[in-house]
Amino acid sequence: MSDAPAEARLLALRAEAEAELRAAGERIDAMTAARADANTDDEHDPEGATIGFEWSQADALRSVLRQRLAEVDAALARIADGAYGVCAVCGEPIPAARLEARPTTDRCIRHA
Ligand SMILES: [Zn+2]
Repeated sequence: MSDAPAEARLLALRAEAEAELRAAGERIDAMTAARADANTDDEHDPEGATIGFEWSQADALRSVLRQRLAEVDAALARIADGAYGVCAVCGEPIPAARLEARPTTDRCIRHA
């Protein structure tokens, strides 16, 4: 069985996550800059709370995306090792349908 389609899918996922991560980082930078400006004007800026909420959402999104990137990289490493598509617990092949739905998984359905 060739892992080429899986690798292509993972690389596409990786590019997507990286682009989203970059966008989230830019939003956080913009908010940080906006907050710094706001603080010099008025500590009790009514927008301060909103910015804080958006900031924590963007920060949480960034954590999720970093996690996803790590999972994609781990899956790519398993492809390189020839261990991709094999359950890390029981060593049985992971069904193609499951790999299609969750390309970064290293567990069969039973051990998910
Ligand atoms: Zn298993």
